[in-house]
Amino acid sequence: MNIGAYSFEEFCRLAENFHGYAAPGVLIGGYMVEKARQALPEGTLFEAVVESPKCLPDAVQLLTLCSTGNQRLKIHNLGRYALSLFDKYSGKGIRVSLDPERMSAWPELYSWFFKKKPKKEQDSAKLLKEIENAGDAICKIEPVTVRPNFVGTRKMSNIVVCPACGEAYPGTDGPICRGCQGEAPYMVRADDKLENRPCVSRIVPVEDSVGQIAAHDMTRIEPGQFKGPEFHAGQRISAGDVCRLQQMGRFNVAIQEESQEGARGYVHENEAAEAFASRMAGQGISWNLPPREGKIDFRAEYDGLFCVDLEKLRNFNLVPNVMVACRQDSTLVKKDAPLAGTRAIPLFLDGKDYALALETLAGGPLFEVKALRKARAGIIVTGTEVFTGLIEDKFIPIISAKLLNLGSEVVQTAIVPDEKKMQTEALAAMLEAGVDLVLTTGGLSVDPDDITRQTLLEYGLRDVVHGIPVLPGTMSLYGIIDYQGREVQVLGVPACALYYKTTFLDLVLPRVLAGRSFTRKDAVNLAEGGYCLNCKVCAWPKCSFGK
Ligand code: ZN
Repeated sequence: MNIGAYSFEEFCRLAENFHGYAAPGVLIGGYMVEKARQALPEGTLFEAVVESPKCLPDAVQLLTLCSTGNQRLKIHNLGRYALSLFDKYSGKGIRVSLDPERMSAWPELYSWFFKKKPKKEQDSAKLLKEIENAGDAICKIEPVTVRPNFVGTRKMSNIVVCPACGEAYPGTDGPICRGCQGEAPYMVRADDKLENRPCVSRIVPVEDSVGQIAAHDMTRIEPGQFKGPEFHAGQRISAGDVCRLQQMGRFNVAIQEESQEGARGYVHENEAAEAFASRMAGQGISWNLPPREGKIDFRAEYDGLFCVDLEKLRNFNLVPNVMVACRQDSTLVKKDAPLAGTRAIPLFLDGKDYALALETLAGGPLFEVKALRKARAGIIVTGTEVFTGLIEDKFIPIISAKLLNLGSEVVQTAIVPDEKKMQTEALAAMLEAGVDLVLTTGGLSVDPDDITRQTLLEYGLRDVVHGIPVLPGTMSLYGIIDYQGREVQVLGVPACALYYKTTFLDLVLPRVLAGRSFTRKDAVNLAEGGYCLNCKVCAWPKCSFGK
């Protein structure tokens, strides 16, 4: 059977020239491409996506104008021998795959494809004959609509130069290129940027330093007793200092040139740290000048939830020669608690790195402390067995204690059966009474009696997150109910809160009270560290749960 405009023989020659040899995969691929093309309406401008990186891309490139270089051929490796040709505007097209059942009619082809026998036992002449005779009869075809991200070519906008390697890359990849972020396919040598050190400081023997200006803070360390700057940047070194410096183990000193000629294009570490700090600190974050040993530390101005813009944190630390380290996002902190520190790594920071670092900090602070509001909470305990008095409620005291502990109050409680009407009425009464946080208990699983979730959804609960990757607390539910122009937060608490001292509820409550939203993405971020060790004596938050 011919392959498009070519005889089987001709196509074998084409494959030899392009692929290196007439690989069975390329030949079969040729039939698959033609099969798909025939099924497309005449004159369709099409693109291709193949699901295997082996052979198939070459069949497409031999027979069509789609290539990886012009981005009209995309390789999406699913390990399946299949390809789709589709309209380049609408994404509508045809997928062709190999049908194992139809292939079984061709024994040599079948055993080649499924690797049933070693290569040296294969009968290649017979295999080629079978491929030619089978043609496209071994293919299966189906209509598909290709997802938008596979359709069309990606426009690269915002091309920038990487400060680490000096090569161009798309700015959307981050402040340095992906190669320099560690994705290069080869080993990378340590960079030799140190050669470019500015000549604004000079190293001199300590006895020659009298009358000169110290270029940076010099630290005195007495193990276990003291660690701090004994000399400050900019300080003039006196004759009496020489002895002290020697006692500190300093025999050479970096001194600053009086003329700042060489400093052009470089920023002193103190100046850099100050510029970083002023941009990083948001509401509730305090910091002091001058920097100590080139570093600025941040503290909490009041009690609250420490919040970190994680994307910014990552981008800033990707910039060469700067750093910031902080406590974990969403940690409850007390007034004056230490939170984070930032500095430039070299004494004089390259102006390009400096500018780039500032750029990553644009558009809002990196750190913030959000005070917890004093919520007026309502608790709805659901469960017919509790309502009828068969079982005594334990939820209200447990949840109330947690809320009180965070400074909120419980203004209303209700115990209702597993019955939609009564649950709805209880909810309506609480909203009417002005609660701004509703906690419901139970009724969140798939058990047909568990209708609380249903009640909430029918009441108009939105932005729902349910099924949390945290143990314990998986069946928890988060959402918002709009009531007379107010947003009322709703938390569904599963029964596990009765047995475990610490659950998802303890992780999410501070966020909710700090007014942070809780999305599926936030839930997903909790998965790592979201597995409680269920210790005999619970020491949370002094453990890894939720970290
Ligand atoms: Zn780079």
